[in-house]
Amino acid sequence: MTEEPAGLPLLQMALRVEQDIFVIRQRGREVAAVVGLEHQDQVRIATALSEVARDLLRMVGGADVSFHIDAGVDGRFHLRADLAPVAPLPDGRFEPQSGAVSRLVDTLSVSTVQGVTVVRMSRRVPANAPTPTPERLAEFRAELGRTAPSSALDELTVQNGQLIAALDEVRSQRDELAVLNEELAETNRGVLALYNQLTEELEETNRGVVALYAELDEKSAQLRAASESKSRFLANVSHELRAPVTAIIGLGRLLADSASDPLTTEQARQVDLIRSSAADLLGLVNELLDLAKAESGRIEPDWAEVDLRPLFGQLRGTLRALATRPGVELVVEEPPAPAVLRTDEVLLGQVLRNLLHNGLKFTERGEVRLRARQSDDRWNFSVIDTGPGIAPELHDRIFEEFYQVPGATRVGGTGLGLPYARRLVMLLGGTLELTSEPGRGSTFTVSLPVGGA
Ligand code: ADP
Repeated sequence: MTEEPAGLPLLQMALRVEQDIFVIRQRGREVAAVVGLEHQDQVRIATALSEVARDLLRMVGGADVSFHIDAGVDGRFHLRADLAPVAPLPDGRFEPQSGAVSRLVDTLSVSTVQGVTVVRMSRRVPANAPTPTPERLAEFRAELGRTAPSSALDELTVQNGQLIAALDEVRSQRDELAVLNEELAETNRGVLALYNQLTEELEETNRGVVALYAELDEKSAQLRAASESKSRFLANVSHELRAPVTAIIGLGRLLADSASDPLTTEQARQVDLIRSSAADLLGLVNELLDLAKAESGRIEPDWAEVDLRPLFGQLRGTLRALATRPGVELVVEEPPAPAVLRTDEVLLGQVLRNLLHNGLKFTERGEVRLRARQSDDRWNFSVIDTGPGIAPELHDRIFEEFYQVPGATRVGGTGLGLPYARRLVMLLGGTLELTSEPGRGSTFTVSLPVGGA
């Protein structure tokens, strides 16, 4: 986009005969040089001029040619050449014979200026060219006026020189292109090699991971098998032990019976010892059997709506007998209404009894308290005692089979109660957690979903 022409043209000339084409070409180049176009652009606009001039001479017999400088809206100056045909263009249109011509200049169009149709082309003057002030334009005109057009032969020689230079440039560009292509191919080869290496490394890693997983699966299967055989072993052994142990207890009772032959005091003491040891053994066997059953998944919870109040009443009653220590109080709080949840009453009762029993066993002063609270969709049962507490590093261990905290707190038992309780809670879809610190008592919390598992 350029403004309408203002002021005098830089140069004017007529196109009437073949010879004029050379002159227009030569003068066009000179004008371009004077206004500061670079060498390549000078050749471009001169070539476009001579092509368009040849076309117009052939189509309408000639044109009046003028050169101008315009200030463009882009803040840059443009060299403009107008070729006003001497006769109307057919259909008022102009298409250069060679389609490449329009690429040599920035614009090439047919315009009508003040009723006169002109073929117009323009090329932008580089930013570093001197600003064409009116004084400079006057100088340009004077300079162009001084140089006389040379002969067609001269122009041909110049044109040949330009052609050779253009050819040279094309050749060097082609060489540069070849070098670039080679570099590109080299880079491609590098990238491809890197890609292959990465792919290989990835595959290698994948193979490693797959092997690792296979090993892991195998180990898990072995572990499962080991755990199953342990449960089976425990179940079988305990089952097989139950009958003889029960028999020992029965026989002991017979021996001590007043209807039997009287025993010496020492014999009676020993029989008593046999009976109580056998009773301990039976307790252990029963607990082992329970745990084995829970672990092998042979316990199926009997789901039902459970009212907690009677269950708590029952616990209060049965455990009172165990709370025999004078300085320890058993408190079973009344559960807040609606004290109902869907679970297995017997299993829940076993778990809470177990926890309360532990509390009473290990607490020497203070109280053991059972508290139930509902929060959102869970019931939380807390067994809180003021006993010796458990060191944090043992919180996991006490849920392991047969583990008992060594030291002063040992008061008998098998070390199977907590693992069994946790198993049962899991079967009921809940969790059994512990918070405790030595000297500050312990809180075991059973959390169960209100609607069952
Ligand atoms: P057991 O009570 O038969 O020894 P458990 O599995 O019920 O076995 O408990 C494991 C161990 O955890 C106990 O031996 C005891 O050392 C510790 N423990 C359990 N409950 C409490 C508690 N309320 N206060 C202090 N220690 C406890």
